[in-house]
Amino acid sequence: MLDQAQRILKDVFGYDAFRGNQGAIIERVGSGGDALVLMPTGGGKSLCYQVPALLREGLAVVVSPLIALMDDQVATLEELGVAAVALNSTLGAEEQRDIAERVRRGEIKMLYLAPERLVQPRMLAFLQRLDIALFAIDEAHCVSQWGHDFRPEYMQLGQLAELFPEVPRIALTATADKRTREEIVQRLHLENAERFLSSFDRRNIFYRIVPKEQPRKQLLGFLAERRGDAGIVYCMSRKKVDDLAAFLTEQGFPALPYHAGLPNELRAFHQKRFLNEEGLIMVATIAFGMGIDKPNVRFVAHLDLPKSLEAYYQETGRAGRDGLPADAWMAYGLQDVIFLKQMLNNSEGDERHKRVEQHKLDAMLALCEETRCRRQALLAYFDEELPRPCGHCDNCVDGVQTWDATEPARQALSAIYRSGQRYGVGHLVDVLLGRDNDKVRGLGHQHLSVFGVGKALSEGEWRSLFRQLVARGLADVDLEGFGGLRLSDSCRPLLRGEVTLELRRDLSSKAPKPASSAASQLVRSEERETWEALRTLRRKLAEEHSVPPYVIFPDATLLEMLRSQPASLADMARISGVGARKLERYGQAFLEVLQGTVEVVRSPADLRHELVTLARAGMTPAQIARQLDCSEKNVYTLLAEAIGKQQLSLEQALDLPEDLLGEIQEAFLDGEGELPPVADVAPLFAGRVPEQVLFCVRAALQAEFEL
Ligand SMILES: [Zn+2]
Repeated sequence: MLDQAQRILKDVFGYDAFRGNQGAIIERVGSGGDALVLMPTGGGKSLCYQVPALLREGLAVVVSPLIALMDDQVATLEELGVAAVALNSTLGAEEQRDIAERVRRGEIKMLYLAPERLVQPRMLAFLQRLDIALFAIDEAHCVSQWGHDFRPEYMQLGQLAELFPEVPRIALTATADKRTREEIVQRLHLENAERFLSSFDRRNIFYRIVPKEQPRKQLLGFLAERRGDAGIVYCMSRKKVDDLAAFLTEQGFPALPYHAGLPNELRAFHQKRFLNEEGLIMVATIAFGMGIDKPNVRFVAHLDLPKSLEAYYQETGRAGRDGLPADAWMAYGLQDVIFLKQMLNNSEGDERHKRVEQHKLDAMLALCEETRCRRQALLAYFDEELPRPCGHCDNCVDGVQTWDATEPARQALSAIYRSGQRYGVGHLVDVLLGRDNDKVRGLGHQHLSVFGVGKALSEGEWRSLFRQLVARGLADVDLEGFGGLRLSDSCRPLLRGEVTLELRRDLSSKAPKPASSAASQLVRSEERETWEALRTLRRKLAEEHSVPPYVIFPDATLLEMLRSQPASLADMARISGVGARKLERYGQAFLEVLQGTVEVVRSPADLRHELVTLARAGMTPAQIARQLDCSEKNVYTLLAEAIGKQQLSLEQALDLPEDLLGEIQEAFLDGEGELPPVADVAPLFAGRVPEQVLFCVRAALQAEFEL
């Protein structure tokens, strides 16, 4: 059977070999057995049921919790020439009946369903009359009542065991600790399932955590090497998300905001654009993520600290699902620690719950202050032992310096104690450095014995030390929320001189720049031009087929084309990810780009497309002109054209004061019949409004009239 599976893998999906456990899982399910599959994101989960679905007779039923995920998979399968459909609430009654009819006639190979739909008695009865190849239950951890993604309908999926005793079932998840694993087995009645546990190591992700100094500036530094890459930036608050998205766009990094405070349609629109366009940055709260299957997210950046390692692992795991190098980058500082500790203190819930959360936060903080390999520490938290340092994280690559901080730490704790256990780090540092300012004087703190004892260290070093004291639980944050520090019980051995303390030395931002990561070097500069040409062709085809670009070909396939330079269709067929159907459809077109016979770089259509993207992302015409390397006048002409075609709204294109806009509109609308030409109106605004702006306003009015 594995032979047959291999053939399907090559012919349909275009891959030469199975990865990790895939082969064993496919063999198990293909021959009718149940399976429980734990695989990290990007491990190739979907192949584990898609290949057996094609191996076996009958209809494969896939349960998935999110419409976006289903649509994405169906589009991918359709491109591969596999008959797949998703039945969901967005379809009309007619469409649903049509799908049911096609299923009944045996024309559909894979049916994607939401759990609530599958467990409807009518649906179950309908399926019982059919020949079913298998049931695949994706995101199986949704069955766990203790998890964040709990979906009550998942509990009812257990009845499949009884209703379809002969049909193999495969449950899959990327997030499951031991307890959740047992819950999945129990609730889904998978007692006979073979368990396949993959390593949770995401080897292609490079982890870096830096001390937070000037977060925006640091982020720009990080992004500078990643121009044109898609990524996610996580922030804690909605306001920060909005501000940062605007700031990044202004700085020439097209970015969109995403958080629960935005209207549903706008959120869905931003998500869709993120999936369908290249090189967009999504700035988001944690509301963004579940259901994002975009494989070529090249980086995930955190500007605020996640609450737990589970969250950190899950969020960073959205990078590099295609297996290509990707970055997980985080800026972290004392304010994060204080904020999260206070949130925890003020949260509702019983003591036990708080203790669990506290424990999780401590583990997160420990990773931030880790002096050994980050990956080893991260995996150890998930009970997985990595025998050697990974060589692919900041600590491994840059090395970590530690220093004996025993004495300064005692001075710092003493400063907290002697000043009354109520002041924040800023004041404590002033006292230690002996700064004679108003606040110090007003409180009489210049008379404390610790006043000025800390001049051997710089302000930055003191702040780093305080952060590490709090992170290690040697000092606590006050409960009232003013950020004051107090001593904790665990600092006593240190104060009494019974233990010593080694701390991490923060690399100052003035230190030599850390080495670039593999992800930022993915495409070398001499390859850029051909790479962009390939991406442009891919985007064009994606638009024609109304699918996201990565459904045409994933980045890994494009990259292999770039590197191996196939000279014929036969060569092309050997590239990983080029199956029979795609070779036939797209092989020639990509070959021509590689051979340079087609000039796809920046056709006028591309320029327009890019311009619309940038304008929607909030860039001003001047910024767009810089970005596209063309004249501002040219930009305005194209903007007017896009407005006329209703690809852009006037508000997206220009930032005009409302009353001025009103005045211009009135000038155009004065009189009967046709809109007057710009030349007629221009004298009224001479010296105030550039003529190009008038063209845009006129185009908007024109478009409105034609409606
Ligand atoms: Zn490492």
